[in-house]
Amino acid sequence: MTERPNIRDLSLEEIESCIATLGKERYRARQILKCLYQGNATSFAEMTTLAREFRDRLEGLFRIAEPRLERCLTAADGTKKLLFALEDGLTVESVLIPGKNHWTACISTQAGCAMGCRFCLTGRGGFKRNLRPSEIVGQMTMLRRHTPEGPNTKNIVMMGMGEPLANYDAVVQAIRLLTSDHGLGHSNRKITVSTCGLAPQIVQLGKEICVNLAISLNAPDDKRRSELMPINRTYPLPELLAACHSYPMPGRRMLTFEYILMAGINDAPADAEQVARLLKGLHCKLNLIPFNEFPGSAFRTPAPEAISAFQQVLLDRNYTAILRASHGRDILAACGQLSGAAAATEKR
Ligand code: SAH
Ligand code: SF4
Repeated sequence: MTERPNIRDLSLEEIESCIATLGKERYRARQILKCLYQGNATSFAEMTTLAREFRDRLEGLFRIAEPRLERCLTAADGTKKLLFALEDGLTVESVLIPGKNHWTACISTQAGCAMGCRFCLTGRGGFKRNLRPSEIVGQMTMLRRHTPEGPNTKNIVMMGMGEPLANYDAVVQAIRLLTSDHGLGHSNRKITVSTCGLAPQIVQLGKEICVNLAISLNAPDDKRRSELMPINRTYPLPELLAACHSYPMPGRRMLTFEYILMAGINDAPADAEQVARLLKGLHCKLNLIPFNEFPGSAFRTPAPEAISAFQQVLLDRNYTAILRASHGRDILAACGQLSGAAAATEKR
């Protein structure tokens, strides 16, 4: 017997067309979604706004599944790392980052990652599989229900494990569920997709949906970027930047470029000058992230003076260049440190 599909993977339109075949009114699809995302229903029996006979038919067609929250670690700075178990036993991580007034959730879009960036622990572990929409949105539904910070989480960044644009359809579907009024009702202005630079998907995303975009730049030229990030051999900087120029950012919103600073690799003032030239004409800001070391990492965090000097070059050229504080380093929750391995090590 094939398994019943998880109704949490379906869009409004998909549920509408499915219940039409059962002779049910269209508006019932919205009711179902509201039960799932606002009523937190974990079974069809709980959907008491629907007739009993209809609930029974839905039960025969679908299952309702969410990732299971397995573990929550808290770092010295208050950052929390959440470990989720998926139905097939794989694990993924989300991170909750404290801000002044509210929290930011950093969520995963794949189990592992196939992009192989040399500085990234997730990349080192290789690729396991794409997450389904229910598994991407499920990190949010679970943390909203099961952590004290959940209800006060306003920003969502897709910067956890995986490359969001390599799981394009599920990510777009998840964003629709996160932002729609029948879903979680998050503001699309508060959602950011971070990519290593899949140029065609950047163009497509810009046409299809309105969210913030962050690009992991990490090097000032093609030679070094290709060495650090293999994706650059497929979509080198001219192509990537052309895609960025095409990305519509409404109002005063800016694109974000993330730049990991690695000692002796890409952190010289001349490199900052080159970055400034590269990004000329783009309405953007830069997030400078000092490299987060992990056991066995080949790169080093630059000295504070080198970091300040790099930042100053960009500020002098009128860029907004923010030095991103690293959160949760002591529990390997900082950028590029997620491996989904916490369960294995802690259970022993
Ligand atoms: N795959 C996407 C999103 C996940 S990676 C992307 O690459 O953008 C999230 C961010 O972590 C990226 O900006 C990446 O460059 C950064 N990162 C990866 N490894 C890191 C490390 N060891 N130290 C600091 N930042 C790192
Ligand atoms: Fe994948 Fe992003 Fe890590 Fe590169 S930096 S390996 S794209 S998760």
